[in-house]
Amino acid sequence: METRVVVLGAGFGGLELATILSEALGDDVDVTLIDKNDAFVFGYAKLDVMFGRTTPDAVRLEYRDIAKPGVRFLQQTITAIDPEARSVTTDGGVHEADFLVVALGADYDLNATPGLAEGGNEFYSVGGAERLGELLPTFSQGRAIVGVCGAPFKCPPAPSEAALLLDDYLSVRGVRDDCEISIVIPFGSPVPPSPDTSSALVAAFAERAIEFVPARRVSSLDSARRVAVLDDGSEMPYDLFLGVPKHRAPDVVVASGMTEDGYVPVNPKTLETRFPGVYAVGDVATIGVPKAGVFAEGAARVVAASLIAGLRGGQQPRAYDGLGSCYIEFGAGRVGRVDVDFLSGPKPTGTFQEPSDALVMEKQHFGSSRRARWFSH
Ligand SMILES: Cc1cc2nc3c(=O)[nH]c(=O)nc-3n(C[C@H](O)[C@H](O)[C@H](O)COP(=O)(O)OP(=O)(O)OC[C@H]3O[C@@H](n4cnc5c(N)ncnc54)[C@H](O)[C@@H]3O)c2cc1C
Repeated sequence: METRVVVLGAGFGGLELATILSEALGDDVDVTLIDKNDAFVFGYAKLDVMFGRTTPDAVRLEYRDIAKPGVRFLQQTITAIDPEARSVTTDGGVHEADFLVVALGADYDLNATPGLAEGGNEFYSVGGAERLGELLPTFSQGRAIVGVCGAPFKCPPAPSEAALLLDDYLSVRGVRDDCEISIVIPFGSPVPPSPDTSSALVAAFAERAIEFVPARRVSSLDSARRVAVLDDGSEMPYDLFLGVPKHRAPDVVVASGMTEDGYVPVNPKTLETRFPGVYAVGDVATIGVPKAGVFAEGAARVVAASLIAGLRGGQQPRAYDGLGSCYIEFGAGRVGRVDVDFLSGPKPTGTFQEPSDALVMEKQHFGSSRRARWFSH
């Protein structure tokens, strides 16, 4: 009987893992890839949807298009995980695994920020971005806040991108002078590991008269008075709130007993959990890297190489390196890049590449190459 690998979650981590196993082992492995959704959407596409640069339909990559030897995709909701028994219960049945890989990402906890659900908006889910896509055309004057409600949060540069793209959006509509934009983030600088990237973003905020409020988190919204309350008790009035909700591991992962301090602890070199044969990759795991797709992918590559070595007999892979590159939208069609190294030195470091036409092309290739590899189109 083939080795059964059950991959929970078909996001960046799960898709990359299933693809590598199929490429290397084909029908010699039995991979079950489970996700509750019927389609994958790149994180950054949510910004495009919110600002009306594309439609929600255009950015959906449908899981039914996955056609890979050895891989079976199941659209099911995972309701229980037993890491000791390596057994998973879904709304479609029970799946037993020889190896289990948890790649269920991070969920949003809107209720952790009082007033956010009633008085604000979030742009971190497809639904939230879609709603904002309808609301933004009606915003023509007043105060807009891009506000982060808790750390860690996915893709640390994304709130900065949202503020710069909002400036673009309002300028193109000819209403920028009637609007104010502020950004509130819980870090001392926009991208802490890279001072050069942070300086470039802070300079871009200054050029565009975007108020930058560092080292603060939005702790609640008072929708009756239309004020955002920050974690030091100070208040910022708003007419439009674009929020990054507090994140947390999916409930089913917490209920499995695998989490500590909110997420799943793993060996940062191998991505193994404390349960034999059970790995965790991506946003659901605690490993010392930011929550971003490129890091989920890198972790998945190490797990895939380890499983292939175990099945084929070969050398175990080198330890996970914690390297990743993120593209950053600076507005006006400009794209920069930050390359970060989280694990090799005593502290994280990052280098900045100025926005350029080459990086615009590179970002497009980032999406199209993954679409081709994961979905064959
Ligand atoms: C606005 C924004 C911009 C971003 N930009 C970038 C960027 O430019 N570059 C970058 O690298 N990253 C970016 N990210 C971050 C990136 O999207 C995430 O970090 C990445 O998707 C994490 O991958 P993952 O595999 O850990 O989890 P995910 O990709 O979130 O996948 C988890 C999957 O698990 C499924 N799932 C969860 N619970 C269940 C359940 N109970 N049953 C079944 N299925 C379940 C979900 O449906 C989901 O498909 C951005 C994110 C946002 C919000």
